Amino acid sequence: MITEVIAKEEINKAKELLYEAHSIAIVTHIGPDGDALGSSLGLYHLLKTIGKETVAVITPNDFPDFLKWMPGAVNIINYEEKSEEADLIINNTDLIVCLDFNTPSRTGKMGDKLIASKAKKLMIDHHLFPSDLAQVVISYPHISSTSELVFRLICRMGHFSDINLQCAECIYTGMMTDTGNFSYNSNQPEIYTIITELLKKGVNKDLIYQNVFNHYSEGRMKLMGYALYKKMKTFPQFHTALITLSGQELYPFNFQSGDAEGLVNLPLSIKGIQFSVMMREDKDKIKISLRSQGEFPCNELAVQLFNGGGHLNASGGESYTSLEEAIRLFEEALPDYFEKHKDKII
Ligand code: 5GP
Ligand code: MN
Repeated sequence: MITEVIAKEEINKAKELLYEAHSIAIVTHIGPDGDALGSSLGLYHLLKTIGKETVAVITPNDFPDFLKWMPGAVNIINYEEKSEEADLIINNTDLIVCLDFNTPSRTGKMGDKLIASKAKKLMIDHHLFPSDLAQVVISYPHISSTSELVFRLICRMGHFSDINLQCAECIYTGMMTDTGNFSYNSNQPEIYTIITELLKKGVNKDLIYQNVFNHYSEGRMKLMGYALYKKMKTFPQFHTALITLSGQELYPFNFQSGDAEGLVNLPLSIKGIQFSVMMREDKDKIKISLRSQGEFPCNELAVQLFNGGGHLNASGGESYTSLEEAIRLFEEALPDYFEKHKDKII
């Protein structure tokens, strides 16, 4: 049906780990997005269907409202709220499956606990440079979502027929959100072969779009307007836009976690803008999101300036300076960065 992307040896090793484990903990990255939850809950449903009784999904912190509808989301253990319960599971489980992250530091405070746990570990991810946290690593950065990798693994393990509607909905959600509803990283024809199969399982893709993308609060919508009208600075000579938001500015919009998601993509709709950066003041840090189009990389700057990383077209990082200092650093570095990559501007 689809080509074999994951190496046979990796499939065999993953299968062995999953089959022999009586208890399994699925963990994903901090600030879980649609793919983090889609891959985690997709695998969760599959494992339940094939008879695994003790399966837990643990996220380092809470996830946005627009993903709360996902099947199985109510069972997720939020590490921030239930760290004792989560620590017990992490320490005593037979197997930890690490989904949609490459290094333990991406799981916040949970990271050290994952390293210390004696459980066997399986990593399935599509970020560059996987760490050596897990004994078995399935890492394919050219695949656009971890959810797609989970689908591929399930099929190659011979469990396509065990994908129920709930599992299919989760996998579809991850594939949809990590490609911006199939508007970037989405040229691989097999993505659509997989979607065909998920639709045949009964997935209502229009409803999932509605649940995820048409779920804004009034505050979030107004924040988008404010950010674009008042806080977006363009650098036309560098085909770049920058949005910055301080904590004080977020306050009147009743800011909730997830409200800034997708904001960084908006300036890319401006003709000529190929690189977009957003800086948002959080409780104890500045969160930076970067997006780019085509071959122009955004992740290199995330590494260079903000101790971050990610994909060519979608990356992020953090800064522990003031917002003003982070802006200054960015504006100072931009001309050289653009010069280095200007041949990639379309
Ligand atoms: P977002 O801007 O949506 O928070 O993140 C986009 C992508 O950038 C994520 O999927 C992840 O790959 C990467 N990313 C975000 N924040 C960080 C960070 O602090 N460190 C690293 N290494 N990668 C990040
Ligand atoms: Mn992902």
